[in-house]
Amino acid sequence: MFDSPESVETILRQALEANGQRFTEQRAAVFRYLHATESHPTADEVFLHVRENVPGISLATVYKSLETLVGCGLAVKLTYGDGSARYDGRTDDHHHLRCVACGVVTDLPGRADDREVARLAASAQEFMVTGYRLELTGYCTSCAQGQTRAHPA
Ligand code: ZN
Ligand code: MN
Repeated sequence: MFDSPESVETILRQALEANGQRFTEQRAAVFRYLHATESHPTADEVFLHVRENVPGISLATVYKSLETLVGCGLAVKLTYGDGSARYDGRTDDHHHLRCVACGVVTDLPGRADDREVARLAASAQEFMVTGYRLELTGYCTSCAQGQTRAHPA
């Protein structure tokens, strides 16, 4: 997250090359923004920020650039049941908090117990587990006003 601009570009060039993709300034602008933010933006939000620096860029180009970054392992696409998607420039294992009112997604500092996850995976029948996703849902601070917390029964 705090790499120098030069190393961010080197990371991008190497990953694109390794995946047979060309380096473009549009892709670089999308990657730089995604790499610097912790906001898990939607494609629209990335577009609104990136077009300030790359005036001619289209939403379609931003969307394709995001998908290219995901394909190169430089970003993670978080999809939701309502068909919406957010992009995460952080690709190490971590979990999320998601506000069910405004949709904001933030990183959860805590980690799940690896042994408990392995125990759950071992209980899967006729299924090859390759990963898992943990998301805590609820209300962010601004949306929590007027909401009652769910108490465990
Ligand atoms: Zn919220
Ligand atoms: Mn994240």
